[in-house]
Amino acid sequence: MWNVNQAYIDGTFVDVQGTETLPVINPTSEQEIGQLTLANRADAVLAIEAAKRAQRWLAVSSKAERIDMLMALQQAVLSHSDRLRESAIEEYGGVFARTQWVSQYAAQCFKNMAQVLEGYDLVREIGGASVIMEPVGVAALIAPWNSVVGTVCSKLSSAIAAGCASVIKPSELSPIQTYVLATALHGAGLPEGVFNILLGRGHDVGDELTRNPDVAKISFTGSTQTGKQIARAGIETMKRVSLALSGKSATLFLDDVDLATAVPLAINAAFMNNGQACVAGSRLLVPRARLDEVIRAVQAHVETLRVGDPYDPQTVIGPAVNQRQYERVQTYIRRGLEEGATLVSGGTGRPQTLEKGYFVKPTVFANVSEDMTIANEEIFGPVLSIMAYDSLEQAIAMANRSDYGLQAYIFSSDTDLARRVASRLAVGTVLINRCATELMAPFGGRKQSGLGREFGVFGLEAFLETKTVVADD
Ligand code: NAD
Repeated sequence: MWNVNQAYIDGTFVDVQGTETLPVINPTSEQEIGQLTLANRADAVLAIEAAKRAQRWLAVSSKAERIDMLMALQQAVLSHSDRLRESAIEEYGGVFARTQWVSQYAAQCFKNMAQVLEGYDLVREIGGASVIMEPVGVAALIAPWNSVVGTVCSKLSSAIAAGCASVIKPSELSPIQTYVLATALHGAGLPEGVFNILLGRGHDVGDELTRNPDVAKISFTGSTQTGKQIARAGIETMKRVSLALSGKSATLFLDDVDLATAVPLAINAAFMNNGQACVAGSRLLVPRARLDEVIRAVQAHVETLRVGDPYDPQTVIGPAVNQRQYERVQTYIRRGLEEGATLVSGGTGRPQTLEKGYFVKPTVFANVSEDMTIANEEIFGPVLSIMAYDSLEQAIAMANRSDYGLQAYIFSSDTDLARRVASRLAVGTVLINRCATELMAPFGGRKQSGLGREFGVFGLEAFLETKTVVADD
């Protein structure tokens, strides 16, 4: 049994002052595997004070010192990659291939950011001025439960490269992954207070981070609803705020799409991370002339997907993170049926072969119209809506008819045409004939999917302030 009752503050693990406890449930077995004692507002204040002390020297640290820290973190995380993968499978139900990739990616973030910083000019001459890029100050890094380790490492790498000390608040639903990650990061031997980690409620620890005047920057990944609360609270002290939020991404099949290659990729885009991905391509837009063919190909492919034990490397879809998320997805599936969508695969309930665990049947609906709930709201489970279009103009309008604008996928043999379509989509990223993004390129959302960009040089600049110095020497 795990017992997570400490926060990582000022370079050491300390017992939290909070007293509220939460059970940790393995979503595959539904067994209790541990207990978390939540940190509270007083713990958050201690963590902010530690970061504030570290900020004094970080603010004047050299590029070389920051690069050394990043490389030490890369090694530290890499040496824990097996434990990180195991904890994500056990606590979250992430499937083997994905958790393996995330544990490697988490280490790679630090190396990538060291490379970015190496080539970045922290001082530029513009006209008669020196423009100096300075760290924004103490940063709060707030992460969701669906991608804890990757999100934390990505944000932390940018903060350190910029010279910002941080207080990290992962989701309270991810204590084991957080504990393993904190242990790994501690192994890098960084000076005290450079990063501090605690798990607490959003309305308590999270609220302190968004209101405390000693926090200058919030880098948040999570739901649009919480992002709005954070932006409102943070504006009082004029915090710099980056928001990576919810999505309802579209996958566009153009007329000439090759279904043999596109269908498996489109299904992957929809169901990756057990369907719990901000970038899930959960709306599949298909030319009406090819609709029947697409439905048959999607149905055939979905039936081959193995749902079940996430430890099994053959498994493609693991469980939902918890009972609440399972119920939420079931509600959306019922809503799809009630509103008249045609069920192609899956449906309500658990797959028949599985007796326990929060497993959702991979579900595909066809005849989904634009006004249906499942076409508009983020479901965050393996549920795909197929929607037909009659012209390219209509496809573009349908893709853009969303409050969100995180990512889109286009599949076509004509990549020139696909690029022209991409130019008209109101999203942060467009992936053409692929599902994987470029990790050095900016990532973030338009409309209600967020504010600002992460990764690479754009991620670094999100933690920097510019200062202009003009002198008559
Ligand atoms: P959430 O908004 O409920 O919680 C995210 C984090 O915010 C948690 O750590 C939570 O404790 C904290 N929080 C909650 N209320 C807070 C408050 N008032 N002040 C400060 N912090 C607070 O989101 P979730 O359910 O954990 O994550 C799923 C959502 O995250 C989905 O909508 C998904 O699309 C989104 N997401 C977006 C991206 C992206 O890069 N755009 C990546 C992953 C997840």
